[in-house]
Amino acid sequence: MFCNKCGEKLPDDAKFCTKCGYKVNNEPEMGSIVFKRLGQLYGSIAQIKIFLDGQMVASLGTNQEVKVTVPIGVHQVEFGYWCGNGQNTVTLTKENPNIRVNIKLGVGLVTSDPKIVSIENL
Ligand SMILES: [Zn+2]
Repeated sequence: MFCNKCGEKLPDDAKFCTKCGYKVNNEPEMGSIVFKRLGQLYGSIAQIKIFLDGQMVASLGTNQEVKVTVPIGVHQVEFGYWCGNGQNTVTLTKENPNIRVNIKLGVGLVTSDPKIVSIENL
């Protein structure tokens, strides 16, 4: 990593810059992902479970929205039902720390798959 003040190259576990003495910030920078489940006619009773990097972070009913705070970086999004469908990668950058992922569940709960219909930068 590099000193935020003078740009000196430093060991990853450095607490202070060896050149200018600036305190190094090792805290991860955080962003957020907003998941929104879009409206639909059928299948509205069941919740879609949202998994982020393999961990369940939320479950969503129709038209519900949830905001999840995560470190800046690349994250894998999956759904709790219908394995093999609805998987996607979301990249949070410092420039766009808030990403909205819109999810739609098709008509008919058992016969159709939830899908990511769009990923937008907020
Ligand atoms: Zn420095």
